[in-house]
Amino acid sequence: MKPLQAPLQAPLLLTRGAFVAYACLPAYPFLAWWNVTHFNTFAGTFAAYACVHINRPGLFWDVPRLLTSRTSPLSVVPTPHLLRMLPWFAHFLRNCRPERVEASSVALGSILARAEAAYNGVWEAAGVHVDDTMGRFAGSSSAAALPYAARHGYLLLQKTPDMMNASQSAAATRRQCVPGLRMEALTTAEVLELEPNLSPQAVGGGSWFFPDGWFLREPGALLRALSSGFETAGGEIRYSARATALQPNHDSVTIELDGGLDSLVVDQVVVACGAHSAVLARSVGDWVPLDTERGYHVEWKQGSEAVFTRAVCDPSQGYISSPMSGGLRSAGLVELGGTHAGPTPARCDQLEEATLNMMNPYAAAALGPRVKTADWLGFRPTMPDALPVIGRSPRVSRVIYAFGHQHVGWTLGGITGQLVTELIDGRKPSVDLQPFRPDRFSLGALL
Ligand SMILES: Cc1cc2nc3c(=O)[nH]c(=O)nc-3n(C[C@H](O)[C@H](O)[C@H](O)COP(=O)(O)OP(=O)(O)OC[C@H]3O[C@@H](n4cnc5c(N)ncnc54)[C@H](O)[C@@H]3O)c2cc1C
Repeated sequence: MKPLQAPLQAPLLLTRGAFVAYACLPAYPFLAWWNVTHFNTFAGTFAAYACVHINRPGLFWDVPRLLTSRTSPLSVVPTPHLLRMLPWFAHFLRNCRPERVEASSVALGSILARAEAAYNGVWEAAGVHVDDTMGRFAGSSSAAALPYAARHGYLLLQKTPDMMNASQSAAATRRQCVPGLRMEALTTAEVLELEPNLSPQAVGGGSWFFPDGWFLREPGALLRALSSGFETAGGEIRYSARATALQPNHDSVTIELDGGLDSLVVDQVVVACGAHSAVLARSVGDWVPLDTERGYHVEWKQGSEAVFTRAVCDPSQGYISSPMSGGLRSAGLVELGGTHAGPTPARCDQLEEATLNMMNPYAAAALGPRVKTADWLGFRPTMPDALPVIGRSPRVSRVIYAFGHQHVGWTLGGITGQLVTELIDGRKPSVDLQPFRPDRFSLGALL
């Protein structure tokens, strides 16, 4: 393996499939994933406004309604995994108390506010910028001339004036916790001027508009470009290498791999395996109540993206429609039930129906049938307080954790990479990592 090139150290520890089971320093860079196409999924939005998370006071009393409504964003898969989730549920409820919700928003805001600037190190290291055209990395020739980023702002739709009123306190939290965030309230007429294909009923209460919001037209194209930049600069990527356990030694860590591959002995290891990270943490004796919020996406054929100019979100039904270069995509919903249960087809039908209802009848009719082969289930890695885990293992300091980024893993990839780099280099982290420490939860605290 080649030695790690200095400029490509951990800034390239992006999340969302781009990375990385682990980066090994100082001598052996190593990047592994299972499925490259994985990253071409999800809504693609750069969600710097997302400091308002799913924990909230009173949520417990809403659960029966949420679990029985046909259009609810929340559902569960009846699987034995729900029993294993009990510690997660218990910690989650504790983190619905007003002071905990506020503390999480403040902590999330501290990294969201730095999220976009932190990606500059990534662009520089990989020799690609998100405002460049996709060129040879695009999935189709028609998309090659388009930039990776579609910068037209972002709309958070409000169906009724009551919903708009109810969203005021969340808006205040966003303004307070993400310094510099620009957002404005639009009337129904103003929203329809921006997106004429929306149905007036979908925006009866107007919308919040984030003028600096943007999304990735084709996440897979960016992943290919970043991977290429990483390799060009001397990094090495190993595909289909799954880590099964970490074994601490006196002056190194051994990474056990499956599939008959030789284990690796490394100086330091970064565990960034999304919802699958807890197993590796457990192998060095750390317990983290990490679970998953399962989410889905559905797509329409290429050309359908013309229906919208920007990503639009219906928070009441928990999904975002993004006009990707390959066609319109609607992504979202929260389904609890772990990573082993198969997809629930009804969730994809629900996303389709909601998307069609969001549009005026002409636009909905022009969309055509959804491309069912593109239906997708993904696993958001989520801790009970909605905060990621970023920091050294309390038991084995050569192990660094970077997982649990819930709904905003792509958004927080750059800042997470930056913070991990700082830890690896032995520098003082540029953000207070206390709220993100791996040992902030314990089973004992529930007793
Ligand atoms: C429907 C949906 C829409 C979303 N929309 C957005 C959005 O618009 N904006 C946003 O910022 N975020 C969004 N997210 C959230 C985002 O996708 C996650 O936060 C992000 O994927 C987490 O990144 P990660 O790298 O930690 O985990 P993952 O993306 O799951 O990646 C982990 C990687 O590690 C690999 N891996 C796992 N275990 C091992 C192992 N043992 N050995 C080796 N490799 C391993 C996996 O194969 C995978 O490649 C969305 C999520 C969903 C489900």
